[in-house]
Amino acid sequence: MAISLQDIIPQINAEIHGAISSAEIDLVSIDSRSMQNNAQTLFFALSGSNYDAHDYISELIDKGVQNFVVTHIPENLEGKATFYIVSNTKIALQQFAAYYRNLFNFPVIGITGSNGKTIVKEWLNFLLSPDYNIIRSPKSYNSQVGVPLSVLAINKMHNLGIFEAGISTLGEMQTLEKIIKPTIGILTNIGTAHDEGFANIGEKIKEKLQLFKGVDVLIYHKNKSIEQFLPCIALAVTPFTKEQGKTFSWSFKDKEADVFISKSVVLDKTHLTVDYQKESFDLKVPFLDDASVENAIQCLMVLLYFGYSFATIESRMELLYPVEMRLKVKNGINNTTIIDDSYSSDFQSLKIALDFLESQKQHKKKTLILSDIFQSGLSNDELYARVSQLVIANKIHRVIGIGETISNYKTKFVNCGTFKSTDDFIEAFDSLTFENETLLIKGARSFEFEKIVTLLEQKTHETVLEINLNAISHNLSYFKTKLKTTTKLMVMVKAFGYGNGGFEIAKLLEHLKVDYLGVAFADEGISLKISGIKTKIMVLNPENTSFPSIIQYELEPEIYCMKGLNAFLKIAEQKELHHYPIHLKIDTGMHRLGFQERDLPVLIETLKNTPSIKVKSILSHLATSDDLENRAFTHEQIALFEKLSQRIMDELGINPIRHILNTSGISNFGESQYDMVRLGIGLYGISNDDKEQKYLENVSTLKSVISQIRTIDKGESVGYGRRFIAEKTTKIATIPIGYADGISRSWGNEIGYVMIKNQKAPILGSICMDMLMVDCTAIPCTEGDSVVIFGENPTVKMIAEKTHTIPYEILTSISQRVKRVFYRE
Ligand SMILES: *Cc1c(COP(=O)(O)O)cnc(C)c1O
Repeated sequence: MAISLQDIIPQINAEIHGAISSAEIDLVSIDSRSMQNNAQTLFFALSGSNYDAHDYISELIDKGVQNFVVTHIPENLEGKATFYIVSNTKIALQQFAAYYRNLFNFPVIGITGSNGKTIVKEWLNFLLSPDYNIIRSPKSYNSQVGVPLSVLAINKMHNLGIFEAGISTLGEMQTLEKIIKPTIGILTNIGTAHDEGFANIGEKIKEKLQLFKGVDVLIYHKNKSIEQFLPCIALAVTPFTKEQGKTFSWSFKDKEADVFISKSVVLDKTHLTVDYQKESFDLKVPFLDDASVENAIQCLMVLLYFGYSFATIESRMELLYPVEMRLKVKNGINNTTIIDDSYSSDFQSLKIALDFLESQKQHKKKTLILSDIFQSGLSNDELYARVSQLVIANKIHRVIGIGETISNYKTKFVNCGTFKSTDDFIEAFDSLTFENETLLIKGARSFEFEKIVTLLEQKTHETVLEINLNAISHNLSYFKTKLKTTTKLMVMVKAFGYGNGGFEIAKLLEHLKVDYLGVAFADEGISLKISGIKTKIMVLNPENTSFPSIIQYELEPEIYCMKGLNAFLKIAEQKELHHYPIHLKIDTGMHRLGFQERDLPVLIETLKNTPSIKVKSILSHLATSDDLENRAFTHEQIALFEKLSQRIMDELGINPIRHILNTSGISNFGESQYDMVRLGIGLYGISNDDKEQKYLENVSTLKSVISQIRTIDKGESVGYGRRFIAEKTTKIATIPIGYADGISRSWGNEIGYVMIKNQKAPILGSICMDMLMVDCTAIPCTEGDSVVIFGENPTVKMIAEKTHTIPYEILTSISQRVKRVFYRE
């Protein structure tokens, strides 16, 4: 994009503070972490319940950004940059995008529906890219913010747009329609699930249809409950003709549809017979499941509408492939971290991947492995000049280019090696070094970069714990909505982030600006500090011997007894510290750690005249905050906390942070939030309250694969002790995960199950140390298929109930030999 600021201002009704430069803007950004921000950036300071980008403006000014769309000028920044003040920055971004969209006039496909939007978009891109310069939403950017950002990436070379729109409540589609302005509409599977945000399914359909009110044609799966609402957007069901047809429908059942399709399964493909305008032809798609077949047909409809020949349609559709949209973080060989984005390569998604690399970086050194880039809408000279600028802005140390085209532009990059093909790279692999660095692997599908990922990935067994970083952010915002804006937040990342991974989660929390992190032992805090975490860290249970290293790494100890206090004071005085922060723990009824009422006189006396330390906070811990039957006990704990902490504060004349609530405390005793709360299990998506559970997103999914399948006869047994005897012929799958990985034996013997292809497979017989066996008689599965041990279903909570423990124990028991993979949606 290249657009002058003068043109933008009237579009967003901004009041200007500062000088407007005559320079053009070539990037719109909302992400303060992006290293792509520079003097040509227009930054929109969005804010949400847990996030306010106005807080990052001063950092951005230091990085050279000069133009900001804001709701107010942050303190002390007046005159330091140019500010465009609007009443709502998100709306301003949307207005700007709508204006920008209107500068272009080419066909735009708009996709909405409940399921399949991203897949249809990616497949259409694949099917149409031989003939068009396509601009499409990157990843699944389909929200009120994602759509404007997608549209703002259009440039003058594009001649076809494909954008998806997702909504969660009434009124949102109106806004997206103005920004996308589709000329061709696709309504994917609408789903019957009752969504939050809509009164009923009719209301949901009507709202989704708003996207299509200006289209030349709407493509949809013929369905009466949708058709009754078409008049609302001035469309009628008419037989399709190229000249006037406004709807273009397909069906497996209804011969009235414009396209009638019959399907059958032959081996591993679905064969479709397509009847269209009195002609008929056959094609194959490489999928068996209903959802994929439906999505493929939506794409087929677009090809028919565009007038492609049956032969072309047939040959292109046969090549459709499964879509993987997630950026994954994996552990690689020689202490490398891999960011795997091996399924797409276009300029927009490269920018997103580089931002992700920056937010995740765990090593100073960064290498980019990049294939040829397709469909940028730019000439190769211009494209690789821009890629080179991006690489420099992101301080990438080394580039490995793979492909004929990128090889020709080798000289554009510093420290660059190139290979003509993926196979050439693999051949040379042994002569290359990869160590102590982060590797971003980004390639177009045809380059099969998954082969490179396999080479670089650390070899462990096939079981992984996948951690959804978006869900963590979501859960954090949810709990923030329960707090006053002034209440500080400590997040507990003890026990390796409740089993989910310490550093990665701490890094995300640091970005989300939590006030404190809490760990159990000094070494956990030290390893976070060594990895570069700067957020303050409280150590709950420091051993006296760890005090010197606590001080060396600037950790803040919790002090819970006189012996500890005296030991810490001695070291603090020796090191001549001044006001070193400590946290006083009071025992109000948990009877685990902490000063009791009778200890207070000595404690207070000791703390008088100790300038080497400072009581930063006073805390206590609740024993039954999750159990409302025991609420009287909790109220007693809180009352005692109030009394004792007040006494310490009065007698010492201090005003520390006070905190007592853990997750269930926040849910049930919010009125006692004091100055800070300590969030733990809730962040990881688990609530003790079923109502609240609905608002949290699942964070961790434990996955494995089927190692072997066999069929046993009636009367035969499975596993140690022959605890399962087959009553009929039974198909058994062996999964390489056992109690040494943290799966309790009490989940075996048909009490528990795993999910294979979305179906329950009961665990048969005793769980072994490294393996378990399941019944998959009714499931069409093969060796190598993926298995879910827990996640959305079964949930950790369900397993905990059935095995008579608590979710905390299950999460923290997952052995460290299980690889952790972090991803963002
Ligand atoms: C673990 C812990 C928390 C967090 O508890 P959750 O129930 O996981 O929210 C809070 N405070 C202290 C002292 C803890 O040990």
